[in-house]
Amino acid sequence: MLVVMRNDATDSQIQAVVDEIERMGFRGVPMPGAQRTAICIVGNPGPVDDSRLLTLNGVKETIPVSKPYKLVSREMKTDPTVITIGDVKIGGGKPVVMAGPCAVESEEQALTIARQVKKLGAQVFRAGAFKPRTSPYAFQGLGEEGLKILGKVRQETGLYIVTEAIDHTNIELVEQYADIIQIGARNMQNYSLLRRAGLSSKPILLKRGLSATIEELLMSAEYIMSGGNLQVILCERGVRTFANHTRNTLDISAIPSVKEVSHLPIIVDPSHAAGRREYVLPLARAAIAAGADGLLVEVHNDPTHALSDGPQSLYPEQFAQLMKEIRTLKFMG
Ligand code: PEP
Ligand code: MN
Repeated sequence: MLVVMRNDATDSQIQAVVDEIERMGFRGVPMPGAQRTAICIVGNPGPVDDSRLLTLNGVKETIPVSKPYKLVSREMKTDPTVITIGDVKIGGGKPVVMAGPCAVESEEQALTIARQVKKLGAQVFRAGAFKPRTSPYAFQGLGEEGLKILGKVRQETGLYIVTEAIDHTNIELVEQYADIIQIGARNMQNYSLLRRAGLSSKPILLKRGLSATIEELLMSAEYIMSGGNLQVILCERGVRTFANHTRNTLDISAIPSVKEVSHLPIIVDPSHAAGRREYVLPLARAAIAAGADGLLVEVHNDPTHALSDGPQSLYPEQFAQLMKEIRTLKFMG
């Protein structure tokens, strides 16, 4: 259930509603929006008796929530959520570009690519220090050493950092270096990781699972938000289908579909969807045209020798072309 406050409601009236919800044995999460603040009741196993709440000062109405998810839903917050990281805004405006290699391989590799993507207009540097790989024998990432390199990239280039946390114990280290914590496709339903991400003060980039429905993706976001972290960025990265001409099938319809039911920003990773660099640019164009709030793109200065995902990594010249082309789409402003 949502408790919708009048638009002239004061902070103390909002707090009084939260306190009353707690007295009822549940939790109240205020979601300030452009038009109004709504307070979402979470932790209730069934219907809530709203008679007492309706008598409190500043309360306009209560609305039952029709979806299984609450905090992520548009019913809860009608205006789009904008996540601010320094001077970068994700959601509801100009698309943001996050670019870099699949993994940090060395300081020289990370800095070389970071300088290139920065010059070409990326705002966030992507690279994994901890890599959840399909094979236990594949490169697993440099671990903490990789995070330290990302710290240097941030310091030297001013790019913000998005990097992956792979479990609920590892996230504590990752959040010391990351501006955005990535939860990978394989971990979309790792509930202990989602719960721990809900306690973080850093924005979370939540990637759609390999065979996850939009509802499952949103329920995973709900785990994070119900823990108190309202800064969630969703990411469509392709799902597994019968089609084998690409690594995964990019679900462009995920963008309008998420936007219809949720206020959260959604970005697109055309690299893991395509699996081949030749397809990344057309998929990126399509994503921006369909209303994505940004792109997460793999770029490598020497993809032939990349330790992971070389075939789908763009050469810097191809990334330059991508930036040029998406800028010409009117959505980039
Ligand atoms: C990645 O971004 O490098 C990655 C491993 O992506 P995904 O979790 O989508 O496979
Ligand atoms: Mn990768």
